[in-house]
Amino acid sequence: MRKTILSALLPFALVFLFSAGCRRPGVPDPAPAPSAAPKPSPAASDTLHVRKVEGLPEEFIFGMDLSSVIAEENSGVRYLGFDGRERDIFLTLAEAGITHIRVRIWNDPFDADGRGFGGGNCGIDTAVRIAQRAAKAGLRLIADFHYSDFWADPGKQMCPRAWEGMPIEEKTEAAYRYTKDCLLRLRDAGADVAIVQIGNETNGALAGEKTWFNIQYLMQAGSRAVREVFPEALVALHFTNPEKGEACLSYAKKLAYYDVDYDVFASSYYPYWHGTAQNLTEVLSTIRTTYGKQVMVMETSYAYTPEDSDFFGNTISAGSAVVKNYPYTVQGQANAVRDVIAAVRDAGGIGVVYWEGAWITAGGADHEENLRLWEEHGSGWASSFAAAYDPADAGKYFGGSAVDNQAFFDPHGNPLESLKVFGLVRTGNEPAPVPDAPEDAALEVDLAGTIELPATVNAILTDNSRSPIPVEWDVTDEALAAMRANGIGDYEVSGTAGGMPVLCRISIRAFNFLQNSGFETGAPDPWVVTDLRGADELYVEEKTTDSLSGRYHLHFWSAAKGSVEFTLEQTPEALPAGLYRFSLSVMGGDAGEQELYLYAKIDGKTVSTCPVRITSYAQWDTGVIDRIPLGEGQALTVGLYVRCEGAGNGAWGQIDNGTLCTAAE
Ligand code: CA
Repeated sequence: MRKTILSALLPFALVFLFSAGCRRPGVPDPAPAPSAAPKPSPAASDTLHVRKVEGLPEEFIFGMDLSSVIAEENSGVRYLGFDGRERDIFLTLAEAGITHIRVRIWNDPFDADGRGFGGGNCGIDTAVRIAQRAAKAGLRLIADFHYSDFWADPGKQMCPRAWEGMPIEEKTEAAYRYTKDCLLRLRDAGADVAIVQIGNETNGALAGEKTWFNIQYLMQAGSRAVREVFPEALVALHFTNPEKGEACLSYAKKLAYYDVDYDVFASSYYPYWHGTAQNLTEVLSTIRTTYGKQVMVMETSYAYTPEDSDFFGNTISAGSAVVKNYPYTVQGQANAVRDVIAAVRDAGGIGVVYWEGAWITAGGADHEENLRLWEEHGSGWASSFAAAYDPADAGKYFGGSAVDNQAFFDPHGNPLESLKVFGLVRTGNEPAPVPDAPEDAALEVDLAGTIELPATVNAILTDNSRSPIPVEWDVTDEALAAMRANGIGDYEVSGTAGGMPVLCRISIRAFNFLQNSGFETGAPDPWVVTDLRGADELYVEEKTTDSLSGRYHLHFWSAAKGSVEFTLEQTPEALPAGLYRFSLSVMGGDAGEQELYLYAKIDGKTVSTCPVRITSYAQWDTGVIDRIPLGEGQALTVGLYVRCEGAGNGAWGQIDNGTLCTAAE
């Protein structure tokens, strides 16, 4: 899909490119909404490029988690419409194509003195207010029970204080009562409840319970309450880490084993953490067809800027080590969301919910001013009062919004053009593509090489395609010489391309005696691949997102059990005598019983091995054989042995980044 323009193979320097990028005084409850629900209609855009997603069902859910909105408004945040005038945010969202509002519900996010823990202070009272605002704007509701007094996620599923110490039978009854009471309040308030989530990102824990035997009781209890109060609503269970496909499948399997009554298997999917869109489609599709459940993405988001605006650091920013398949621009954000929608549709899923698209800065002029607002109104992720419940984390690291740069509103409350993606994705909107951001360049130079900066970098166009443009690097020959003299390390050179700032990241590495070490020629040679059992697939594959670096890796897959066994090796010519260090990386899945190891042979005789292991998608395991002693005139062969008996849909894996360097004495 992506085009790369520069792949110059210099005598001592491998060059490749990879992707990178890029108030006012408070009044209570604003914006009276009309009683008549507006018909969501796609907002027109002259600039936003949105490739149509074919075959979207009419009832496809475009959701927005808006849990912090009340706290934000209480802090003085005002949301504007596309005309620049103050407007009820629920109406702006509806007009942009949003159909559902999601709200989290914590049992009791307040300390003994009634001071809120933050994160929107989302108890049932807040949820009811949000539900009413949503209903007035014609938006349906997704109620997200965390069954905790504060944040629940894979790292944390703390028991609500009121349920502490209860045996599971009693806790189950409490969960049923609590869920039912909350849902009755929502019903009485006129909420249009479409989906109820029993638990939030419950990867193996819920309300302090850590065994599936107990978790399933709580899920059943919540589900029963939903069926009684909102018989038409869907019951959703919510997990995350779809990049660990097998784990997701194991949750669905356990739910089936315990015969938990639910309708929707929902997953979070943050494109910078959670693997490829293709993998997401595969995981959700497998769950849908295997277990007969509906599937959806319950949380996603992407940055429109690398900049923070509320004096509290963000989850992703310019330097964060995450996958950045889109630039951090308004257009990049829209393209990221569009592709998640397409991936869910491809899986036969029912919808996508964007997480906290309005959690912008509380609006203070500095950290101190914002801290006062976060403490008073709960508009930061946590207040200091959360120490009453979660002293180790929230009570220590309390502060503001970590996702203000992933919102659909700028720091002044203006909606971003990217918000229109939800309305435009059905019809498509394709103005002529123009450069949107430059793609940073990366250069690997070995110790014996010279630094040759590329003459062009890729411009990422608004349609997410790439096209080379000239670049000017802001660096002197003296500065480059100083990098060379300094030796092994990582360096950056800034430049300008098409009027936009761009970086070249330079890595100076020890000389690699392996040729085509990361398969970047697109063919295995001079690696020798020996297939011992006849695998279905064993070849060099082009797929940036499955490569450890660069665009290519060696790929294998085979459906039948016991059909994967091969070796991959290389024998560099005329190596000088000395000590050597060999490393190689693998990842994959469905391996079943496996035996994989790196080996080093001298004159054909194995002298050392190092086991490596295949676990799951994107979990790379790097084996190292250090201090291989090579004598004068001897031949060194380094390689990898792979044998997988296979499980699931057949063993598969990717191999990348071989290195053979001189070892330290
Ligand atoms: Ca922030």
